[in-house]
Amino acid sequence: MSGSAFDWMRPEGDTSLPPSDPLAGFPGVLDCVHCGLCLEACPTYRATGIESDSPRGRISLMRAQAEDRVAPAEVARWVDRCVMCRACEPVCPSQVPYHQLVERQRAGAAADRAPSFLERFASSTSRQRLFGRLARTARRIGLLALVERWGPARLRSLARAVPRHPRAWRPKAGRNFAARGEARGVVALHLGCTYPELLGDALREVVAVLTAEGFDVRVPDQPACCGALHAHAGAPEEGAAAAAATLRARGDADAWIVPSAGCAAHLLAADPKAPVAEPIEFVRRHGLRGTLRPVARRVAHAPPCHLLNVLGGAGSTDGMLSETPALAVCALRDANLCCGAGGASFAKQPEIAMLLGNAKAQAIGDSGAEWVVAGNPGCMLQIEAALRERGVRAQVLHPARVLREALGAELPD
Ligand code: SF4
Ligand code: SF4
Repeated sequence: MSGSAFDWMRPEGDTSLPPSDPLAGFPGVLDCVHCGLCLEACPTYRATGIESDSPRGRISLMRAQAEDRVAPAEVARWVDRCVMCRACEPVCPSQVPYHQLVERQRAGAAADRAPSFLERFASSTSRQRLFGRLARTARRIGLLALVERWGPARLRSLARAVPRHPRAWRPKAGRNFAARGEARGVVALHLGCTYPELLGDALREVVAVLTAEGFDVRVPDQPACCGALHAHAGAPEEGAAAAAATLRARGDADAWIVPSAGCAAHLLAADPKAPVAEPIEFVRRHGLRGTLRPVARRVAHAPPCHLLNVLGGAGSTDGMLSETPALAVCALRDANLCCGAGGASFAKQPEIAMLLGNAKAQAIGDSGAEWVVAGNPGCMLQIEAALRERGVRAQVLHPARVLREALGAELPD
């Protein structure tokens, strides 16, 4: 793919926009000073070296669209390749609110389109169940392997996201898992759209850790999706409504435990004061009361982008790993770069997702890790698919697996 680089950019110094311009309300688009400090942080730019695949390039494209200097379809072509990892935001000296610009651009481009397959999937628990059943059966009988090899591109990328051993675990609404020993509080468990059908073991690990640490875990009746997928797809109203409904579903529990960094970031964007917590950070903040036993494994941490760049909570998992006796923590090259899962890119932008996934799988292979932990379902699916394709033998797990083993906690039924 060739990039047209800078030919659509305006000369430096002229930052005017017509008052009627839809981007006039976004001071961030004018705040970009083209310094390029974001380039090295951006996984898509690092993968392709094309200016239009960088935050700086996309911001300039959005501005050029607002000023009628480039066709919207050309802008969408490049903005859609952004995995929304937000690694460009913390390094930007002008504090350009990059994700807001992208969400606004996508919302404009998506105004009259039909909801995507992923949005439909996320919006209904019964659809998730049906998809989960079909996906697990298709994986078991080998159909997905055929689709991955011979199917059309879109179907192929969906098929490769289904793990080799998908596991369903969807606790019923209203179920309560009792704290072990003296209770320290009550938390609500956010299930999310992906864990219950494909990665149920991760939810069980989280419940085991929380109950072992003295928390009653409730499963509230909750919306099928927190709305993050809708927001990424350019449907901000639906995304905000689903987030508000999800936050209300917590009831009187002390905290919403959200094992998915992407969902936690979306919920906190809707209400920054909401008691939303990532499970490892939550139990460590309350002080681990169990004694950690040795876990003799070689483990690498692939921190989800939203944990790193939005929630700032990756240090909790790193701290937990480094404190676990006998655990060998394997350094991962470019651990801060997105694995390609961001913004459901595996389904919508398979080419870029594959490039980033391959780089992550290569780094994991080189690290010598036998376990890779990632606290986000999209990352778990994407990394497992990339490892499978490259023939790297490492198991992908939620970080709660390590803590559960270290605590010697029992898994719930
Ligand atoms: S770091 Fe910020 S100001 Fe500099 S080029 Fe990137 S977006 Fe623009
Ligand atoms: S959000 Fe991530 S992929 Fe998108 S421009 Fe920023 S750093 Fe690059």
